[in-house]
Amino acid sequence: MGIEVDPKYGGTGSTFFSNILVIEELAKVDPSVSIVCDIQNTLINALFMRLGTEQQKDTYLPRLCKDMVGSFCLSEAGSGSDAFSLKTTAQKNKDYYVINGSKMWISNSEQAGVFLVMANADVSAGYRGITCFIVPKDTEGFHIGKKEDKMGLRASSTCSLSFDNVKVPESSVLGQVGQGYKYAIGMLNEGRIGIAAQMLGLAQGCFDQTIPYTKQRIQFGKRIFDFQGMQHQISHVATQLEAARLLTYNAARLREAGRPFKKEACMAKYFVSEMAVMTTSKCLEWMGGVGFTKDYPIEKYYRMSRLGTIYEGTSNIQLSTIAKFIDQEY
Ligand SMILES: Cc1cc2nc3c(=O)[nH]c(=O)nc-3n(C[C@H](O)[C@H](O)[C@H](O)COP(=O)(O)OP(=O)(O)OC[C@H]3O[C@@H](n4cnc5c(N)ncnc54)[C@H](O)[C@@H]3O)c2cc1C
Repeated sequence: MGIEVDPKYGGTGSTFFSNILVIEELAKVDPSVSIVCDIQNTLINALFMRLGTEQQKDTYLPRLCKDMVGSFCLSEAGSGSDAFSLKTTAQKNKDYYVINGSKMWISNSEQAGVFLVMANADVSAGYRGITCFIVPKDTEGFHIGKKEDKMGLRASSTCSLSFDNVKVPESSVLGQVGQGYKYAIGMLNEGRIGIAAQMLGLAQGCFDQTIPYTKQRIQFGKRIFDFQGMQHQISHVATQLEAARLLTYNAARLREAGRPFKKEACMAKYFVSEMAVMTTSKCLEWMGGVGFTKDYPIEKYYRMSRLGTIYEGTSNIQLSTIAKFIDQEY
């Protein structure tokens, strides 16, 4: 849970690329476990490591590496794709802030011990008032709502949050006042590579569980794998998987080398999440009737794949962002 965190805080001091490999490997078996690890490493730890004061790092990083999960709280009921139209406010008063408002769709929030909350500390400045606050779970006035009854990724909790005059000291600002929108964009740019890795692992895991079945199942006196109609489909999906892997690793490699990577991260997130939907859907079909039952994990991968095109920026939002880069380049 502390892949890139400095060993002096209890982490393994590894690399961003290692994050990506861990997220991919976990997702092959369980994408819910993978998303807990993904959010912790690519969003929460990354924000603390980059922006935290020594005191904030000393307080949270050792716990995040050992026994505490964090939640990243940006989305609200009225602000999803249009994230910076958020309505949660933080009113300054002497040396503290009072947070009021609500959040929605917050991953891992049922178990989290610390919440990184985007709230507007200067509404007159519009999105330039958005500030990142550290809110511990037991803060008075802070409530975690009911867990959403989701179609997939059910082992990762997703809850709404409410803030009713939540008083936090000035020292709980992470980074600078009014820079929260920049931090959120920056983290989500990298986080998209994490979601690409999660969807890549998910699709690979599903494929790995399906192919052996096609080599055992006999119809018309032959293994179903031996029909050319099946082989062409299987080869097509295997090629898409390989392309998805290269897009993901390339975005991670560029990010690690400190080179521009945002367009490539959007492309990876877009392509891989669409590929995961296609792959799991095909695998389900290749399994025949049993693919549609809970006796095999294929239907679970299929349900889970549906989320990749939605969170951390929908496919449409990725395409719009890619178009902005193309517009600048030509
Ligand atoms: C399981 C789950 C976990 C999540 N975890 C977190 C979390 O931990 N923290 C957090 O802050 N958020 C989280 N989210 C929120 C997630 O990031 C949002 O759901 C996502 O950004 C989409 O926002 P929305 O649901 O409001 O959809 P909307 O923004 O209402 O979009 C609905 C549809 O309209 C399309 N659309 C919207 N705007 C445009 C446009 N400009 N051009 C073209 N099409 C457009 C979208 O592509 C989409 O198809 C999570 C969501 C889910 C479902």
